[in-house]
Amino acid sequence: MEILSYVFFAITMSIVLLFIWSKRKKQQDGVSESSEAYKVILNQHVSFYRELNEVDRNRFLEEVTSFLKDVHIEGVGTEVDNVDRVLIASSAVIPIFNFPYWHYKNLSNIILYPDTFNKDFQFDGMHRNTLGMVGEGFMNGQMILSKSALHQGFSKNGGENNTAIHEFVHLIDKRDGSVDGVPELLLARPYVIPWIKMMHTEMNKIKTGHSDIDPYALTNEAEFLAVVSEYFFEKPDKFKQHHPELYELLTKMFGKSVIE
Ligand SMILES: [Zn+2]
Repeated sequence: MEILSYVFFAITMSIVLLFIWSKRKKQQDGVSESSEAYKVILNQHVSFYRELNEVDRNRFLEEVTSFLKDVHIEGVGTEVDNVDRVLIASSAVIPIFNFPYWHYKNLSNIILYPDTFNKDFQFDGMHRNTLGMVGEGFMNGQMILSKSALHQGFSKNGGENNTAIHEFVHLIDKRDGSVDGVPELLLARPYVIPWIKMMHTEMNKIKTGHSDIDPYALTNEAEFLAVVSEYFFEKPDKFKQHHPELYELLTKMFGKSVIE
């Protein structure tokens, strides 16, 4: 009788262990399958990723995968597919790629709209009628993005604009408590005053028609930072050529040159 109990116990344990093992295996397969799918999308759509060396590409993919595990993305009036998800995660990873332990603490949910939107929420600035927003007050932790602007930002004819990167730069700026164009967590103290001066000098140039930076940067310092960051990450060579001093300071801010 006792032997029978042992046999029964052994069989039950084996079944339980087999069940746990197969479940884990499935989860691991799921992760590597999605990583492979993400890699294809990154290669197709994200030039920042394509220009990295192999080690950094692997880290970029890890950061994208980890971002997508942390942040919920939902569509309103549109479906959310893997391309949308990878483009959103890439926009999050690009500005903080040189800060490997960065975590977007102030973001839990992203809502994707099909196109421009106009809602009566409280936001940090209204943008471009309106392609992207970072929530404030009861909308804290939320970001809203337009799907068409998201895709346009990563398309070959996207120019210097990238709405999603713009919104993530606002979130980075917000981490020190104020969206003021001075991301204190990225910018070492000795560079703060030179940066503020540089912003105002360049804003004057935009005002008088002597700069190719999108005049939306004139809205305030926070918008200036977000707009020049789009340009810096989207067209680094052109930005360096047209704005060498700004390029140098943004390089210090975001950790390193985006041009190898
Ligand atoms: Zn903005």
